[in-house]
Amino acid sequence: MRFRTLDHSPEAPAGQLTELLVAEFDDRAALERFASGLDLVTYEFENVPVQSARSLARMLPVYPPPEALEAGQDRLAEKTFFQGLGIPTPSFAEVNSPADLEQALSTLGLPAVLKTRRFGYDGKGQFLLKESQKRHAAWQALGGVPLLLEQFIPFERELSILAARGRAGETAFYPLVENLHRDGMLRRSIAPAPGLTAALQSQAESYAERVMSALDYVGVIAIELFQLEDRLLANEMAPRVHNSGHWTIEGAATSQFENHLRAVAGLPLGVTAPRGYSAMLNIIGAIPEARKVLEVEGAHLHLYGKAARIRRKLGHVTVVCDDARSLDEKIERLKQVLDLRFEI
Ligand code: AMP
Repeated sequence: MRFRTLDHSPEAPAGQLTELLVAEFDDRAALERFASGLDLVTYEFENVPVQSARSLARMLPVYPPPEALEAGQDRLAEKTFFQGLGIPTPSFAEVNSPADLEQALSTLGLPAVLKTRRFGYDGKGQFLLKESQKRHAAWQALGGVPLLLEQFIPFERELSILAARGRAGETAFYPLVENLHRDGMLRRSIAPAPGLTAALQSQAESYAERVMSALDYVGVIAIELFQLEDRLLANEMAPRVHNSGHWTIEGAATSQFENHLRAVAGLPLGVTAPRGYSAMLNIIGAIPEARKVLEVEGAHLHLYGKAARIRRKLGHVTVVCDDARSLDEKIERLKQVLDLRFEI
């Protein structure tokens, strides 16, 4: 396959490997130049304007469908969509005025999470409210309405399900992944999630199945979940390949990237079985010494060619092992190499 990419930044990592067209996503003339000669378009960023995806869809096939972008871009619409499909979410309330916030706080109680409705990612656009006096500060920090107040979930852990759906509606599911976030950013994933039961897996698959069939989805999707005992609540979805699926490059029979391309190209989906026990650690803010990472047996280093900046994801390391115990040892060693101080 050959690729052309569209991004507003000349530094876009995809430009290292593909023909990169630098333009704003809503530049009509650029969209036409971009589409010219292509077979189809896909995306790997959920904040592509829906209108741009729709304009492209009038010229050529766009997968996943623009409706999937739309459903995931607004946190209120997304949670309402989940609930409409019978998928449980944290309780939430729409906040369009200071009076709404008072009302929502009295209904949902504290702690609660106040979130912007759009353009939140990597912990941006949210404020954990523990005391009600902080509500004005939270309001200010988020820049005003429209907002969403969510009940804070004291989850046991965070999980995600990665799934693929082909053009004829066929589906494939990766095993649930356990994710650890710090400051709202994904730090590490373990796949399959430790202690994964068939019941938990089938619950997650049924959520993903409902979401994908409602959207007539084509491609890879990720749904982030909170686990409370044996129940899963949906937090959000990403209509694209996902950071919590990066382990599949080395850790699964077919990577999420390959399966995404197979799906959008109308080819058979590949086997999603894990090849062992995998962990993925994100490289954030500073690039480690390659030699030190690669000295850890089973470790694979991926750098995206981005300039180092605080809180920026610059790459990741995946380690694959034959047994869960050696995975823990490898994670410990990699934590030291990457200078990670959190509990994982
Ligand atoms: P989000 O951008 O909404 O995915 O939130 C980023 C991270 O913040 C999540 O992965 C959780 O770790 C945490 N978080 C978000 N919403 C809640 C909630 N309602 N209860 C507890 N933690 C949350």
